[in-house]
Amino acid sequence: MRINIQTVPCGAYQANAYLVWREGRDDCALIDPGDDLERLEGAIGDKRLGAILLTHGHFDHILAAQPLAKATGAAAYIHPADAEMLSDMDKSAYNASICRLPPPKGLVAKPLGEALSACGLDFTVLHTPGHSRGSVCLYLADEGVLFSGDTLFEAGYGRMDLYGGDSRQMLDSLKKLFALPGELRVYPGHGGPTTIARERDRYIL
Ligand SMILES: [Zn+2]
Repeated sequence: MRINIQTVPCGAYQANAYLVWREGRDDCALIDPGDDLERLEGAIGDKRLGAILLTHGHFDHILAAQPLAKATGAAAYIHPADAEMLSDMDKSAYNASICRLPPPKGLVAKPLGEALSACGLDFTVLHTPGHSRGSVCLYLADEGVLFSGDTLFEAGYGRMDLYGGDSRQMLDSLKKLFALPGELRVYPGHGGPTTIARERDRYIL
């Protein structure tokens, strides 16, 4: 059964939220709901929100998670190493001058382990620190799809100068991603989609 992926760019940094659902099912998973609650609610529409998955704890990927979790009862998930960012303006890099939604405060998220099944989707969780301590990539192996958050972009990778960033860890994380199948379709946290092969070919690691 095929899956649908709807991209919803949110907020000043146009962070990509991804709504993912299996054809024929009425429930959906939402990855990285950022600073545009109205647009996200519009995209969800009549579908039932089954899970909210956060690739990391920066404000531009999480701001709508709390209101959506509250309104729908959907559980949110984040890697334990980034959980502290969900209630900390500074660690989440919250910027009041460009945000519509209020700063994150106290969203209770469940810890992402090595795998998560939700809405008929079997995510493998790849821990890819470097952009933040708890950055993850969400891998749908059967569908050949990877949601790479702010770890890997088209023609780039995440900055390492924010709280919890680490260049050595980023290098290891990129090596881990480049060991995945080249044809994998990559959906980054900002910008357009790409593939592992296209990105791997740009670097000598
Ligand atoms: Zn980020």
